[in-house]
Amino acid sequence: MPQLYIDGRWQDAASGATREIHCPADGELVATVAEGDERDAELAIAAARAAFDEGTWPSTPGPERGLLLHRLADLLTEEKEEVARLEALDTGKRMVEARLDMDDIISVFRHFATLAAAEAGRVVDPGMPGISSRVVTEPVGVCALITPWNYPLLQTSWKVGPALAAGNTFVLKPSELTPSTAIWLVDALDRLGLPKGVANLVLGPGATVGATMTSHPDVDLVSFTGGLETGRGIMAAAAPTVKRVALELGGKNPNVIFADADMDAAIDNALTAVFLDSGQVCSGGTRLVVEESVHDQVVDELVRRARQIRLGGPFDEQAETGPLISKQHREKVEAYVEAGIAEGAKLLVGGERPADPELDKGFYYLPTILDGCTSEMSCVQDESFGPVLTVETFSGETREAAEDAAVAIANDTIYGLAGAVWSQDAGRAERVAKRLRHGTIWINDYHPYVAGAEWGGMKQSGIGRELGLAGLHEYQESKHIWHNTSPARAGWFSDDQA
Ligand code: NDP
Repeated sequence: MPQLYIDGRWQDAASGATREIHCPADGELVATVAEGDERDAELAIAAARAAFDEGTWPSTPGPERGLLLHRLADLLTEEKEEVARLEALDTGKRMVEARLDMDDIISVFRHFATLAAAEAGRVVDPGMPGISSRVVTEPVGVCALITPWNYPLLQTSWKVGPALAAGNTFVLKPSELTPSTAIWLVDALDRLGLPKGVANLVLGPGATVGATMTSHPDVDLVSFTGGLETGRGIMAAAAPTVKRVALELGGKNPNVIFADADMDAAIDNALTAVFLDSGQVCSGGTRLVVEESVHDQVVDELVRRARQIRLGGPFDEQAETGPLISKQHREKVEAYVEAGIAEGAKLLVGGERPADPELDKGFYYLPTILDGCTSEMSCVQDESFGPVLTVETFSGETREAAEDAAVAIANDTIYGLAGAVWSQDAGRAERVAKRLRHGTIWINDYHPYVAGAEWGGMKQSGIGRELGLAGLHEYQESKHIWHNTSPARAGWFSDDQA
């Protein structure tokens, strides 16, 4: 079946090109999909433009748009096992994780369905008789949605949910590596009767399809999740036409453990923080920032536990985490670890591919811990996006000095996406959380999030917020309507006839 969806019609790429998708866990062929280029992107943008300018979706009442999103959540609930399987095969992640992703996605669609129905603008009192002043929200227009490979449908739901809730039309371009659940999503919207042209899907490379979407004058908003370098390029491409830009660009997220933490919970969560999904998580706790007095206790236990982590593919029920996404990505992680060691970091565990021949066909890499790290090292500053933990220590003669030292290290990064602080002293935990310049802070926890709370980065981790209320506002324009119900002359200029 053709897999580009443009103006309500499934079609092949204009060039006829296709691409094979292989499971990163074992190299098996998963699917052969259409490979679009600039021409397909142009057609999709034209369809989205026409559906916005001439179609019914932007003026469909909010409650009706919300109902469609609720029905999308219902459909995903019914088809969850099959969609989770598609996601697991494309990404190599375990089915248990893919199923949890589906639960998250369902709650994201429900969140935006509820907001779509509730959004009513606001009345402003100008303090003048006969004047009604109100602020209403309207959709931004045509949205270019560009998503990565680590949480393909989840990242897409964070964009498609609010885009539709607000009444926009869109062109979606998923990562070339993981297109299957985007195809399911657009097919689901088609089955639910979304008007043609509102949702469009173009598969293909960022360099052609993505670049057309980010520079095209008929696109009003670009929402992108991916790497920092790509994000910088997208901002530049969007500048000449002054598009609205929302960016989620990853992080180097500090996980700060004070000596007064609940050690058992802190250590166990430090493993999940960094090794979940083999570290391919933008908010992963890749920088352990630990108080010197408990360094050995924490690090020895992390090393012991990291050695036990079982690797395997989507359907291996013993596996605890999976492969990296591609050969190229594993090579990047390997080079990153080598650079860290060359700069003086001490390799405590991992640092190589697993010896198990069963895993030879996949892009596996062992959970890795680098000790003795400092903020000057590239392994502390650069994203590896792999299962690699760097360890930095802090200390202070007084309580305040220890907190100052921890905060200084934790904030010493160009990124600012997420971080955690572990302490049983609630006052200390709150003080430190307040001073961390990262968009999400967990206290005595790591990783959970909720669709009702904003997600996004400070500094070079991005621009704007997804989820929460702000996640909807990204996709809305505010319009002020001033209505004088007793029109009268302004009387500013003289009128000789009067
Ligand atoms: P990219 O940033 O290259 O890709 C993310 C998305 O952007 C993909 O759909 C990609 O297309 C698209 N894209 C690439 N170039 C352009 C362009 N010029 N214009 C418009 N769209 C474009 O991420 P990678 O997959 O290469 O991963 C690189 C690094 O990014 C990772 O190692 C990691 O550090 C980080 N990353 C961060 C994520 C996050 O959640 N913040 C998620 C994934 C990666 P395509 O790849 O199909 O060509």
